[in-house]
Amino acid sequence: MKLTTKILIVGGGPAGSTAARFLAESGREVILLEKNFSFVKPCGGGIPLSTFDELDIPKTLIKKEVKSIRLISPLDEKLDIELRGGSLAITERGEFDRVLRNVAEEHGAHVIEGEFYGITLNNTIYRVEANIGGERIEIVSEYVIAADGVNSSVRRALGIKPSPSFFTVSEKLKETETDCCEFWFGFSHAPGLYSWIFPSSEGVSAGTGCFETGKINDLFKIFTERRKIKSEGLKRIYKVPRWKGDLYNKGKIMFVGDAAGQVLPLSYEGIYYAMKAGELAARAIIEERVNEYKRMWKASFQKRFFLMHKLSNYFLKNDSSTEKLVALHKRPEVQEASIKLWLRKDSSRDSLQSYIKLFRKFLI
Ligand SMILES: Cc1cc2nc3c(=O)[nH]c(=O)nc-3n(C[C@H](O)[C@H](O)[C@H](O)COP(=O)(O)OP(=O)(O)OC[C@H]3O[C@@H](n4cnc5c(N)ncnc54)[C@H](O)[C@@H]3O)c2cc1C
Repeated sequence: MKLTTKILIVGGGPAGSTAARFLAESGREVILLEKNFSFVKPCGGGIPLSTFDELDIPKTLIKKEVKSIRLISPLDEKLDIELRGGSLAITERGEFDRVLRNVAEEHGAHVIEGEFYGITLNNTIYRVEANIGGERIEIVSEYVIAADGVNSSVRRALGIKPSPSFFTVSEKLKETETDCCEFWFGFSHAPGLYSWIFPSSEGVSAGTGCFETGKINDLFKIFTERRKIKSEGLKRIYKVPRWKGDLYNKGKIMFVGDAAGQVLPLSYEGIYYAMKAGELAARAIIEERVNEYKRMWKASFQKRFFLMHKLSNYFLKNDSSTEKLVALHKRPEVQEASIKLWLRKDSSRDSLQSYIKLFRKFLI
């Protein structure tokens, strides 16, 4: 069997569904191929509240609203920061992804459960091989959007190396409670990264990150001992890409979200950026100018990603530099600048420069 469409999107996570919605809304013919409708991505599900208005996400998806974060330094300095002028919405990822796919479908996208296998280019047309309901199906399309996450099989099929990445282990803990997002720093349990406790729809989501997979469970154990929580057994290991900013499109195949490594360094926030990349890729296709995607992404996010990459290298290189990160955030002006960048997504030239100036001023 053969299906034909103008645009095929591989992957029905936040990036793919957002691209599908924008394309369908503008009358383009689009298929969204998701390999498993029941898949629940391991994720804290934390999204700045402002994203809901910006990207028209149903607010019924908000399970909790978090109004403060807590930073805990390697030496146990605790700092509570009120998220003045913003808040963090907590969602449940299974439901979040399902509803975004439904919204895309309501706008006219054809949402199909099926798995991408391979791709070939024939003249100017892509022929994609997919498994739909156990049958091998060919999907013919003019554009392809690879939104298939950190283990992107579209990348693999094209011989493009996977994104550099790190490992996380995470778990939902029903017996633990917190009313803020806790970021725990320390090389003993999160070398070069952080461990976290986020409120969840039920209890909390807890986890830690590490660059070497072999150590991840031991590190999580050290974290649970430090935080004095009890693992309830169902842990999941999953990768998070590290941003390089080197892949946007290959011909008319565009890469968005985790498939393109678009996770913000230092905070490791990915949902907002995946959705924005989906929107920008869709806009480029609507304008029939694929290169516009890279230009628009860079104009919107390059400086912010580069700055966070630098800060991450500086502040997460050892415990004493992480102490400085927490100590610096005791200053109200640094808190305000971080909230502006993170929750209000203000990366105007002035805002970024004043952020850099603040760090220079207090570090030198
Ligand atoms: C433990 C953890 C906690 C996190 N917490 C947060 C957080 O609190 N806030 C935040 O902003 N970010 C968080 N992130 C990052 C965030 O989850 C990702 O950046 C985000 O999901 C990226 O969206 P995406 O659509 O690009 O990819 P994904 O969400 O990974 O979606 C990819 C989709 O493609 C599908 N797919 C894969 N292969 C195929 C194929 N061959 N054929 C068809 N479909 C396929 C998958 O089933 C999946 O549905 C976290 C990540 C982890 C691992």
